[in-house]
Amino acid sequence: MSFEILGRDLLGRIGRLTTKSGVVETPVLLPVINPAIQPISPKKMQEEFKCQALITNAYILRKHFEDDLARKGVHNLLDFNGVIMTDSGGYQILAYGKVDATPKAIVHYQEDINTDIATILDVPTGWGISKKYAEQTVNETLNRAKNLAEIRRRDDIIWVGPVQGGQYLDLVAYSAKEMGKLPFEIHALGSPTPVMEQYLFDTLVDMILTAKMNLPPERPLHLFGAGHPFMFSLAVALGCDLFDSAAYAIYARENRYLTEYGTIRLDELEYLPCSCPICAGNNPKDIKTMPEAKRQEVLALHNLHVSLSEVKRIKQAIIEGRLWEHLEVRAHGHPSLLKALKTMAKYKEYLEKQSPLTKKSGLFFFSSLAQIRPEVVRHKKRLSERYSLPKEAKVLVLLPQTRMKPFHKSWEYQKNLKTVEQKLGSEVDITHILVYAAPFGIIPTELDEVYPLSQHEIATPLDAETVDYVAKQVENYILSTDYRKVVLCQHDENGGRKILTACRKACQKKKIPLIVLKTEAKINTAK
Ligand SMILES: [Zn+2]
Repeated sequence: MSFEILGRDLLGRIGRLTTKSGVVETPVLLPVINPAIQPISPKKMQEEFKCQALITNAYILRKHFEDDLARKGVHNLLDFNGVIMTDSGGYQILAYGKVDATPKAIVHYQEDINTDIATILDVPTGWGISKKYAEQTVNETLNRAKNLAEIRRRDDIIWVGPVQGGQYLDLVAYSAKEMGKLPFEIHALGSPTPVMEQYLFDTLVDMILTAKMNLPPERPLHLFGAGHPFMFSLAVALGCDLFDSAAYAIYARENRYLTEYGTIRLDELEYLPCSCPICAGNNPKDIKTMPEAKRQEVLALHNLHVSLSEVKRIKQAIIEGRLWEHLEVRAHGHPSLLKALKTMAKYKEYLEKQSPLTKKSGLFFFSSLAQIRPEVVRHKKRLSERYSLPKEAKVLVLLPQTRMKPFHKSWEYQKNLKTVEQKLGSEVDITHILVYAAPFGIIPTELDEVYPLSQHEIATPLDAETVDYVAKQVENYILSTDYRKVVLCQHDENGGRKILTACRKACQKKKIPLIVLKTEAKINTAK
Protein backbone atom coordinates (compact mmCIF):
# COMPACT_ATOMS: atom_id res chain seq x y z
CA MET A 1 0.00 0.00 0.00
CA SER A 2 1.10 3.55 -0.52
CA PHE A 3 -0.47 6.91 0.15
CA GLU A 4 0.71 9.77 -1.99
CA ILE A 5 -0.46 13.32 -1.27
CA LEU A 6 -1.15 15.43 -4.36
CA GLY A 7 -2.81 18.53 -2.95
CA ARG A 8 -3.72 20.14 0.38
CA ASP A 9 -5.90 22.77 1.93
CA LEU A 10 -6.44 23.23 5.69
CA LEU A 11 -5.91 19.62 6.91
CA GLY A 12 -7.74 18.27 3.87
CA ARG A 13 -5.73 16.52 1.19
CA ILE A 14 -6.12 15.03 -2.24
CA GLY A 15 -4.34 11.70 -2.10
CA ARG A 16 -3.80 8.45 -3.96
CA LEU A 17 -4.25 5.33 -1.89
CA THR A 18 -2.94 2.22 -3.58
CA THR A 19 -4.52 -1.11 -2.58
CA LYS A 20 -4.30 -4.59 -4.07
CA SER A 21 -7.54 -3.98 -6.01
CA GLY A 22 -6.56 -0.62 -7.38
CA VAL A 23 -6.00 3.02 -6.60
CA VAL A 24 -8.52 5.19 -4.77
CA GLU A 25 -8.36 8.95 -4.90
CA THR A 26 -9.03 10.57 -1.53
CA PRO A 27 -10.93 12.17 0.08
CA VAL A 28 -13.30 9.36 -0.69
CA LEU A 29 -16.81 8.53 0.41
CA LEU A 30 -17.37 4.81 0.84
CA PRO A 31 -21.07 4.01 0.55
CA VAL A 32 -22.08 1.45 3.16
CA ILE A 33 -23.32 -1.77 1.56
CA ASN A 34 -25.61 -4.05 3.50
CA PRO A 35 -25.94 -7.06 1.18
CA ALA A 36 -29.16 -8.12 2.93
CA ILE A 37 -31.00 -4.84 2.16
CA GLN A 38 -29.44 -2.87 -0.65
CA PRO A 39 -31.40 -0.29 -2.66
CA ILE A 40 -28.56 0.27 -5.18
CA SER A 41 -26.34 -2.56 -6.39
CA PRO A 42 -22.57 -2.18 -5.99
CA LYS A 43 -22.25 -2.82 -9.75
CA LYS A 44 -24.49 0.15 -10.47
CA MET A 45 -22.48 2.27 -8.04
CA GLN A 46 -19.33 1.38 -9.95
CA GLU A 47 -20.72 1.76 -13.47
CA GLU A 48 -23.08 4.71 -13.10
CA PHE A 49 -21.63 6.57 -10.13
CA LYS A 50 -17.96 5.72 -10.78
CA CYS A 51 -17.58 4.65 -7.14
CA GLN A 52 -14.02 3.44 -6.65
CA ALA A 53 -14.55 1.99 -3.20
CA LEU A 54 -17.22 0.86 -0.79
CA ILE A 55 -17.46 -0.52 2.70
CA THR A 56 -19.35 -3.49 4.07
CA ASN A 57 -19.50 -5.27 7.38
CA ALA A 58 -17.46 -8.43 7.81
CA TYR A 59 -19.45 -9.48 10.85
CA ILE A 60 -22.77 -9.33 8.99
CA LEU A 61 -21.30 -11.09 5.95
CA ARG A 62 -19.98 -13.86 8.17
CA LYS A 63 -23.34 -14.30 9.82
CA HIS A 64 -25.31 -14.49 6.57
CA PHE A 65 -22.98 -15.97 3.97
CA GLU A 66 -20.18 -17.63 5.89
CA ASP A 67 -19.14 -20.67 3.81
CA ASP A 68 -20.28 -19.41 0.50
CA LEU A 69 -18.44 -16.15 0.84
CA ALA A 70 -15.12 -17.57 1.97
CA ARG A 71 -15.12 -19.60 -1.26
CA LYS A 72 -16.18 -16.79 -3.58
CA GLY A 73 -14.52 -13.79 -2.06
CA VAL A 74 -16.23 -10.54 -1.19
CA HIS A 75 -15.68 -8.95 -4.62
CA ASN A 76 -17.63 -11.76 -6.30
CA LEU A 77 -20.35 -11.82 -3.70
CA LEU A 78 -20.98 -8.08 -4.07
CA ASP A 79 -20.25 -8.10 -7.81
CA PHE A 80 -17.84 -5.18 -7.43
CA ASN A 81 -14.24 -5.17 -8.63
CA GLY A 82 -13.18 -1.88 -7.04
CA VAL A 83 -11.70 -1.45 -3.58
CA ILE A 84 -13.61 -3.01 -0.70
CA MET A 85 -13.14 -2.04 2.91
CA THR A 86 -14.64 -4.13 5.68
CA ASP A 87 -15.67 -3.02 9.11
CA SER A 88 -15.25 -5.67 11.76
CA GLY A 89 -18.41 -5.80 13.82
CA GLY A 90 -17.25 -3.28 16.37
CA TYR A 91 -20.44 -1.35 15.72
CA GLN A 92 -22.49 -4.46 16.50
CA ILE A 93 -20.74 -4.61 19.88
CA LEU A 94 -21.88 -1.06 20.45
CA ALA A 95 -25.44 -1.87 19.43
CA TYR A 96 -25.93 -5.33 20.95
CA GLY A 97 -23.29 -5.52 23.68
CA LYS A 98 -21.26 -8.38 22.22
CA VAL A 99 -20.58 -10.36 19.08
CA ASP A 100 -20.25 -14.12 18.82
CA ALA A 101 -16.82 -14.10 17.20
CA THR A 102 -13.27 -13.87 18.51
CA PRO A 103 -10.91 -11.10 17.39
CA LYS A 104 -8.77 -13.77 15.73
CA ALA A 105 -11.68 -15.27 13.81
CA ILE A 106 -12.69 -11.84 12.50
CA VAL A 107 -9.12 -11.13 11.31
CA HIS A 108 -8.89 -14.49 9.53
CA TYR A 109 -12.35 -14.12 8.08
CA GLN A 110 -11.47 -10.77 6.47
CA GLU A 111 -8.35 -12.36 4.99
CA ASP A 112 -10.36 -15.33 3.71
CA ILE A 113 -12.89 -13.17 1.89
CA ASN A 114 -10.03 -11.24 0.27
CA THR A 115 -11.01 -7.77 1.43
CA ASP A 116 -8.70 -4.87 0.51
CA ILE A 117 -8.90 -2.76 3.65
CA ALA A 118 -9.68 -4.59 6.89
CA THR A 119 -10.49 -3.52 10.44
CA ILE A 120 -9.51 -5.34 13.62
CA LEU A 121 -12.37 -6.25 15.94
CA ASP A 122 -12.24 -3.13 18.10
CA VAL A 123 -14.30 -2.32 21.17
CA PRO A 124 -16.05 0.98 20.45
CA THR A 125 -16.18 3.39 23.38
CA GLY A 126 -19.69 4.61 22.69
CA TRP A 127 -21.38 7.48 24.46
CA GLY A 128 -22.64 8.33 27.94
CA ILE A 129 -20.41 5.75 29.64
CA SER A 130 -18.06 6.07 32.60
CA LYS A 131 -14.45 7.06 32.11
CA LYS A 132 -13.40 3.75 33.63
CA TYR A 133 -15.32 1.81 31.01
CA ALA A 134 -14.00 4.10 28.27
CA GLU A 135 -10.47 3.33 29.46
CA GLN A 136 -11.18 -0.40 29.22
CA THR A 137 -12.37 -0.04 25.62
CA VAL A 138 -9.20 1.87 24.72
CA ASN A 139 -6.92 -0.70 26.37
CA GLU A 140 -8.72 -3.74 25.00
CA THR A 141 -8.70 -2.29 21.46
CA LEU A 142 -4.96 -1.60 21.86
CA ASN A 143 -4.30 -5.17 23.01
CA ARG A 144 -6.12 -6.55 20.01
CA ALA A 145 -4.20 -4.17 17.76
CA LYS A 146 -0.90 -5.41 19.20
CA ASN A 147 -1.94 -9.04 18.64
CA LEU A 148 -2.63 -8.47 14.97
CA ALA A 149 1.03 -8.99 14.00
CA GLU A 150 0.87 -12.59 15.31
CA ILE A 151 -2.56 -13.40 13.92
CA ARG A 152 -2.41 -12.04 10.37
CA ARG A 153 -1.40 -14.43 7.61
CA ARG A 154 -1.36 -12.12 4.60
CA ASP A 155 0.62 -8.99 3.94
CA ASP A 156 -1.32 -7.58 0.97
CA ILE A 157 -4.29 -6.39 3.00
CA ILE A 158 -4.31 -2.90 4.48
CA TRP A 159 -5.17 -2.95 8.20
CA VAL A 160 -6.98 -0.19 9.98
CA GLY A 161 -6.05 0.74 13.55
CA PRO A 162 -9.14 2.26 15.20
CA VAL A 163 -8.81 5.07 17.74
CA GLN A 164 -11.20 4.94 20.70
CA GLY A 165 -11.89 7.16 23.68
CA GLY A 166 -15.23 8.75 22.78
CA GLN A 167 -15.85 12.06 24.50
CA TYR A 168 -12.83 11.63 26.82
CA LEU A 169 -10.28 13.56 24.83
CA ASP A 170 -7.31 12.54 27.02
CA LEU A 171 -8.18 8.93 26.22
CA VAL A 172 -8.53 9.75 22.50
CA ALA A 173 -5.05 11.31 22.63
CA TYR A 174 -3.58 8.29 24.43
CA SER A 175 -5.33 5.84 22.11
CA ALA A 176 -4.09 7.70 19.02
CA LYS A 177 -0.53 7.98 20.29
CA GLU A 178 -0.29 4.27 21.15
CA MET A 179 -2.12 3.13 17.99
CA GLY A 180 0.24 5.32 15.94
CA LYS A 181 3.25 3.38 17.27
CA LEU A 182 1.89 0.16 15.75
CA PRO A 183 2.50 -0.64 12.06
CA PHE A 184 -1.01 0.21 10.79
CA GLU A 185 -1.36 1.80 7.38
CA ILE A 186 -4.65 3.57 8.02
CA HIS A 187 -6.26 4.79 11.23
CA ALA A 188 -9.91 5.31 11.93
CA LEU A 189 -11.94 7.25 14.40
CA GLY A 190 -15.10 5.67 15.68
CA SER A 191 -17.61 8.47 15.99
CA PRO A 192 -20.30 7.52 18.49
CA THR A 193 -23.78 7.53 16.96
CA PRO A 194 -25.17 10.27 19.29
CA VAL A 195 -22.49 12.68 18.07
CA MET A 196 -23.93 12.35 14.58
CA GLU A 197 -27.61 11.91 15.49
CA GLN A 198 -27.68 14.91 17.80
CA TYR A 199 -25.49 17.03 15.53
CA LEU A 200 -22.77 17.39 18.18
CA PHE A 201 -20.32 18.52 15.50
CA ASP A 202 -18.35 20.68 17.95
CA THR A 203 -17.60 17.50 19.92
CA LEU A 204 -16.65 15.83 16.66
CA VAL A 205 -14.13 18.63 15.97
CA ASP A 206 -12.53 17.97 19.38
CA MET A 207 -12.42 14.23 18.77
CA ILE A 208 -11.04 14.32 15.22
CA LEU A 209 -8.41 16.95 15.94
CA THR A 210 -7.27 15.26 19.15
CA ALA A 211 -6.82 12.02 17.19
CA LYS A 212 -5.16 13.82 14.28
CA MET A 213 -2.67 15.68 16.48
CA ASN A 214 -1.52 12.41 18.04
CA LEU A 215 -1.41 10.13 14.99
CA PRO A 216 1.39 9.90 12.39
CA PRO A 217 0.32 12.65 9.92
CA GLU A 218 1.30 10.69 6.80
CA ARG A 219 -1.18 7.89 7.47
CA PRO A 220 -4.69 8.29 6.07
CA LEU A 221 -7.52 8.76 8.57
CA HIS A 222 -10.95 7.20 8.19
CA LEU A 223 -14.07 8.54 9.90
CA PHE A 224 -16.62 5.86 10.70
CA GLY A 225 -20.27 6.78 10.18
CA ALA A 226 -19.90 10.23 8.63
CA GLY A 227 -23.55 10.33 7.60
CA HIS A 228 -24.97 13.49 6.09
CA PRO A 229 -23.21 15.22 3.17
CA PHE A 230 -23.57 18.64 4.83
CA MET A 231 -20.76 17.69 7.23
CA PHE A 232 -18.37 16.07 4.71
CA SER A 233 -16.43 19.31 4.19
CA LEU A 234 -15.95 19.62 7.96
CA ALA A 235 -14.59 16.06 8.15
CA VAL A 236 -12.25 16.65 5.20
CA ALA A 237 -11.04 20.04 6.48
CA LEU A 238 -10.14 18.35 9.78
CA GLY A 239 -8.02 15.76 7.97
CA CYS A 240 -10.31 12.79 7.33
CA ASP A 241 -9.21 11.14 4.08
CA LEU A 242 -11.84 8.41 3.99
CA PHE A 243 -15.34 8.30 5.41
CA ASP A 244 -18.31 6.02 5.07
CA SER A 245 -21.96 6.85 4.99
CA ALA A 246 -25.15 4.84 4.96
CA ALA A 247 -27.25 8.02 4.95
CA TYR A 248 -28.18 7.68 1.26
CA ALA A 249 -30.05 4.44 2.03
CA ILE A 250 -31.25 5.13 5.59
CA TYR A 251 -32.74 8.51 4.68
CA ALA A 252 -34.40 6.99 1.60
CA ARG A 253 -36.11 4.39 3.78
CA GLU A 254 -37.49 7.26 5.87
CA ASN A 255 -38.70 9.16 2.78
CA ARG A 256 -36.14 11.87 3.29
CA TYR A 257 -34.49 13.75 0.44
CA LEU A 258 -30.91 14.87 1.04
CA THR A 259 -29.46 18.16 -0.12
CA GLU A 260 -25.89 19.30 0.40
CA TYR A 261 -27.10 21.72 3.09
CA GLY A 262 -29.90 19.77 4.82
CA THR A 263 -32.77 17.29 4.56
CA ILE A 264 -36.31 17.70 3.23
CA ARG A 265 -39.19 15.32 3.92
CA LEU A 266 -40.59 13.91 0.70
CA ASP A 267 -44.15 15.02 1.56
CA GLU A 268 -42.91 18.61 1.96
CA LEU A 269 -41.22 18.72 -1.44
CA GLU A 270 -42.93 20.95 -4.01
CA TYR A 271 -39.86 21.12 -6.25
CA LEU A 272 -36.79 18.93 -6.70
CA PRO A 273 -33.83 21.27 -6.14
CA CYS A 274 -31.30 19.06 -7.91
CA SER A 275 -30.46 18.13 -11.48
CA CYS A 276 -29.32 14.53 -11.06
CA PRO A 277 -30.94 12.10 -13.57
CA ILE A 278 -33.65 11.18 -11.01
CA CYS A 279 -34.64 14.77 -10.28
CA ALA A 280 -34.34 15.88 -13.89
CA GLY A 281 -36.69 13.11 -15.04
CA ASN A 282 -39.34 13.25 -12.30
CA ASN A 283 -41.41 15.69 -10.30
CA PRO A 284 -42.16 15.30 -6.57
CA LYS A 285 -45.65 13.93 -7.31
CA ASP A 286 -44.17 11.14 -9.48
CA ILE A 287 -41.91 10.07 -6.63
CA LYS A 288 -44.56 10.37 -3.93
CA THR A 289 -46.92 8.05 -5.83
CA MET A 290 -44.38 5.36 -6.67
CA PRO A 291 -44.68 1.91 -5.03
CA GLU A 292 -42.63 1.85 -1.83
CA ALA A 293 -39.67 -0.19 -3.10
CA LYS A 294 -39.31 1.93 -6.23
CA ARG A 295 -39.64 5.14 -4.19
CA GLN A 296 -36.88 4.01 -1.84
CA GLU A 297 -34.68 3.15 -4.77
CA VAL A 298 -35.06 6.51 -6.54
CA LEU A 299 -34.61 8.43 -3.29
CA ALA A 300 -31.47 6.41 -2.54
CA LEU A 301 -30.15 7.13 -6.05
CA HIS A 302 -30.75 10.85 -5.63
CA ASN A 303 -29.27 10.81 -2.10
CA LEU A 304 -26.15 9.06 -3.37
CA HIS A 305 -25.81 11.57 -6.22
CA VAL A 306 -25.96 14.45 -3.75
CA SER A 307 -23.41 12.79 -1.44
CA LEU A 308 -20.92 12.06 -4.21
CA SER A 309 -21.33 15.50 -5.81
CA GLU A 310 -20.49 17.11 -2.49
CA VAL A 311 -17.25 15.10 -2.34
CA LYS A 312 -16.34 16.35 -5.83
CA ARG A 313 -17.07 19.94 -4.80
CA ILE A 314 -14.82 19.52 -1.77
CA LYS A 315 -12.01 18.12 -3.92
CA GLN A 316 -12.31 20.99 -6.37
CA ALA A 317 -12.23 23.42 -3.41
CA ILE A 318 -8.98 21.81 -2.19
CA ILE A 319 -7.42 22.23 -5.65
CA GLU A 320 -8.52 25.89 -5.78
CA GLY A 321 -7.41 26.57 -2.20
CA ARG A 322 -10.97 27.47 -1.25
CA LEU A 323 -11.83 24.73 1.24
CA TRP A 324 -12.36 27.26 4.03
CA GLU A 325 -14.75 29.30 1.89
CA HIS A 326 -16.66 26.10 1.06
CA LEU A 327 -16.72 25.08 4.71
CA GLU A 328 -18.03 28.49 5.72
CA VAL A 329 -20.91 28.24 3.21
CA ARG A 330 -21.85 24.77 4.52
CA ALA A 331 -21.50 25.89 8.15
CA HIS A 332 -24.19 28.48 7.53
CA GLY A 333 -26.57 25.66 6.57
CA HIS A 334 -27.04 24.57 10.19
CA PRO A 335 -26.28 26.24 13.56
CA SER A 336 -24.53 23.06 14.82
CA LEU A 337 -22.10 23.22 11.93
CA LEU A 338 -21.37 26.89 12.58
CA LYS A 339 -20.76 26.03 16.22
CA ALA A 340 -18.30 23.39 15.05
CA LEU A 341 -16.49 25.91 12.86
CA LYS A 342 -16.21 28.29 15.81
CA THR A 343 -14.82 25.41 17.90
CA MET A 344 -11.94 25.21 15.43
CA ALA A 345 -10.68 28.49 16.97
CA LYS A 346 -9.23 26.39 19.82
CA TYR A 347 -7.01 24.62 17.31
CA LYS A 348 -6.07 27.54 15.07
CA GLU A 349 -2.32 27.29 15.78
CA TYR A 350 -2.33 23.61 14.79
CA LEU A 351 -4.38 24.35 11.67
CA GLU A 352 -1.88 27.05 10.74
CA LYS A 353 1.12 24.74 11.12
CA GLN A 354 -0.43 22.07 8.90
CA SER A 355 -1.89 24.30 6.18
CA PRO A 356 -0.15 25.15 2.90
CA LEU A 357 1.78 28.43 2.73
CA THR A 358 0.64 29.60 -0.66
CA LYS A 359 -2.35 28.94 -2.85
CA LYS A 360 -3.36 29.42 -6.44
CA SER A 361 -6.17 31.80 -5.57
CA GLY A 362 -6.85 34.83 -3.45
CA LEU A 363 -8.87 34.54 -0.26
CA PHE A 364 -12.41 35.69 0.43
CA PHE A 365 -13.16 36.89 3.95
CA PHE A 366 -16.79 37.21 4.98
CA SER A 367 -16.78 37.74 8.73
CA SER A 368 -14.77 37.53 11.94
CA LEU A 369 -14.49 33.76 11.37
CA ALA A 370 -11.49 34.86 9.30
CA GLN A 371 -9.51 35.07 12.55
CA ILE A 372 -9.43 31.26 12.71
CA ARG A 373 -7.96 30.97 9.23
CA PRO A 374 -4.37 29.79 8.87
CA GLU A 375 -3.33 32.79 6.77
CA VAL A 376 -4.49 35.31 9.39
CA VAL A 377 -2.96 33.34 12.28
CA ARG A 378 0.28 32.94 10.30
CA HIS A 379 0.59 36.65 9.57
CA LYS A 380 0.23 37.53 13.24
CA LYS A 381 2.72 34.85 14.26
CA ARG A 382 5.33 35.86 11.69
CA LEU A 383 5.02 39.51 12.56
CA SER A 384 5.72 38.84 16.23
CA GLU A 385 8.39 36.16 15.73
CA ARG A 386 10.27 37.08 12.58
CA TYR A 387 9.70 40.71 11.73
CA SER A 388 12.25 43.38 12.64
CA LEU A 389 11.84 47.09 12.05
CA PRO A 390 13.90 48.98 9.48
CA LYS A 391 16.78 50.77 11.30
CA GLU A 392 15.68 54.30 10.43
CA ALA A 393 12.11 53.72 11.69
CA LYS A 394 11.40 56.28 14.41
CA VAL A 395 7.98 57.66 13.47
CA LEU A 396 5.15 55.20 12.96
CA VAL A 397 2.64 56.17 10.29
CA LEU A 398 -0.61 54.19 10.28
CA LEU A 399 -2.67 54.39 7.10
CA PRO A 400 -6.10 52.83 6.49
CA GLN A 401 -6.48 49.88 4.15
CA THR A 402 -7.65 50.52 0.62
CA ARG A 403 -9.76 48.40 -1.65
CA MET A 404 -7.07 48.36 -4.31
CA LYS A 405 -4.11 46.17 -3.51
CA PRO A 406 -1.20 46.22 -3.02
CA PHE A 407 -2.09 49.10 -0.75
CA HIS A 408 0.96 51.21 -1.55
CA LYS A 409 -0.05 51.36 -5.22
CA SER A 410 -3.54 52.76 -4.59
CA TRP A 411 -4.42 56.41 -5.11
CA GLU A 412 -5.89 56.73 -1.58
CA TYR A 413 -2.66 55.52 -0.04
CA GLN A 414 -0.63 57.96 -2.12
CA LYS A 415 -3.00 60.80 -1.23
CA ASN A 416 -2.86 60.01 2.50
CA LEU A 417 0.90 59.70 2.36
CA LYS A 418 1.20 63.16 0.80
CA THR A 419 -0.87 64.66 3.63
CA VAL A 420 1.34 62.92 6.21
CA GLU A 421 4.56 64.09 4.52
CA GLN A 422 3.38 67.70 4.49
CA LYS A 423 2.61 67.44 8.19
CA LEU A 424 5.89 65.75 9.15
CA GLY A 425 8.31 67.87 7.10
CA SER A 426 11.92 66.78 7.69
CA GLU A 427 10.83 63.71 9.69
CA VAL A 428 9.75 61.87 6.51
CA ASP A 429 13.17 60.20 6.33
CA ILE A 430 12.59 58.37 9.59
CA THR A 431 9.01 57.30 9.06
CA HIS A 432 7.82 53.71 8.91
CA ILE A 433 4.52 53.14 7.15
CA LEU A 434 2.05 50.43 8.16
CA VAL A 435 -1.47 49.81 6.97
CA TYR A 436 -4.10 48.79 9.51
CA ALA A 437 -6.13 46.29 7.59
CA ALA A 438 -8.82 43.71 8.28
CA PRO A 439 -8.62 40.79 8.70
CA PHE A 440 -4.83 40.68 9.16
CA GLY A 441 -4.38 43.47 11.71
CA ILE A 442 -1.36 45.48 10.65
CA ILE A 443 0.71 45.17 7.49
CA PRO A 444 4.12 46.84 7.08
CA THR A 445 4.08 48.45 3.62
CA GLU A 446 7.30 46.73 2.61
CA LEU A 447 5.47 43.39 2.99
CA ASP A 448 2.16 44.28 1.37
CA GLU A 449 2.84 42.25 -1.77
CA VAL A 450 3.60 39.04 0.13
CA TYR A 451 0.85 36.39 -0.33
CA PRO A 452 -1.97 36.72 0.66
CA LEU A 453 -1.75 40.30 1.96
CA SER A 454 -2.67 41.68 -1.45
CA GLN A 455 -4.52 38.61 -2.72
CA HIS A 456 -7.79 38.81 -0.83
CA GLU A 457 -11.17 40.48 -0.68
CA ILE A 458 -13.07 41.31 2.48
CA ALA A 459 -16.74 42.10 2.95
CA THR A 460 -17.44 45.60 4.27
CA PRO A 461 -18.74 47.15 6.44
CA LEU A 462 -16.59 45.17 8.86
CA ASP A 463 -18.26 43.41 11.78
CA ALA A 464 -17.50 44.43 15.37
CA GLU A 465 -15.25 41.44 16.19
CA THR A 466 -13.12 42.07 13.13
CA VAL A 467 -12.67 45.73 14.04
CA ASP A 468 -11.83 44.77 17.64
CA TYR A 469 -9.20 42.35 16.35
CA VAL A 470 -7.54 44.96 14.13
CA ALA A 471 -7.63 47.55 16.95
CA LYS A 472 -6.01 45.04 19.32
CA GLN A 473 -3.23 44.32 16.83
CA VAL A 474 -2.55 48.04 16.41
CA GLU A 475 -2.45 48.56 20.19
CA ASN A 476 -0.17 45.58 20.79
CA TYR A 477 2.16 46.65 18.00
CA ILE A 478 2.66 50.15 19.42
CA LEU A 479 3.21 48.70 22.90
CA SER A 480 5.80 46.20 21.70
CA THR A 481 7.91 48.70 19.69
CA ASP A 482 9.87 51.88 20.46
CA TYR A 483 8.78 54.59 18.05
CA ARG A 484 9.14 58.17 19.25
CA LYS A 485 5.88 59.30 17.66
CA VAL A 486 2.75 57.84 16.04
CA VAL A 487 0.82 59.45 13.17
CA LEU A 488 -2.63 57.97 12.55
CA CYS A 489 -4.44 58.65 9.34
CA GLN A 490 -8.02 57.97 10.34
CA HIS A 491 -11.60 58.08 9.16
CA ASP A 492 -14.72 57.06 11.03
CA GLU A 493 -15.82 54.24 8.75
CA ASN A 494 -15.13 50.56 9.31
CA GLY A 495 -14.27 50.91 12.96
CA GLY A 496 -11.94 53.89 12.56
CA ARG A 497 -12.96 55.21 15.97
CA LYS A 498 -11.90 52.00 17.67
CA ILE A 499 -8.52 52.24 15.94
CA LEU A 500 -8.21 55.80 17.26
CA THR A 501 -9.06 54.67 20.82
CA ALA A 502 -6.53 51.84 20.58
CA CYS A 503 -3.78 54.23 19.40
CA ARG A 504 -4.57 56.75 22.17
CA LYS A 505 -4.43 54.05 24.82
CA ALA A 506 -1.13 52.63 23.59
CA CYS A 507 0.54 56.05 23.08
CA GLN A 508 -0.47 57.15 26.59
CA LYS A 509 1.08 54.01 28.05
CA LYS A 510 4.26 54.49 26.01
CA LYS A 511 4.22 58.24 26.77
CA ILE A 512 4.67 59.19 23.12
CA PRO A 513 2.76 61.78 21.09
CA LEU A 514 -0.08 60.78 18.74
CA ILE A 515 -0.94 62.93 15.74
CA VAL A 516 -4.33 62.26 14.15
CA LEU A 517 -4.99 63.24 10.54
CA LYS A 518 -8.53 62.88 9.21
CA THR A 519 -8.97 61.29 5.81
CA GLU A 520 -11.92 60.81 3.51
CA ALA A 521 -10.63 57.61 1.93
CA LYS A 522 -12.97 54.64 2.20
CA ILE A 523 -12.09 50.99 1.66
CA ASN A 524 -15.41 50.29 0.00
CA THR A 525 -14.92 52.91 -2.67
CA ALA A 526 -14.05 51.27 -5.94
CA LYS A 527 -11.54 53.09 -8.09
ZN1 LIG B 1 -31.42 14.60 -7.48
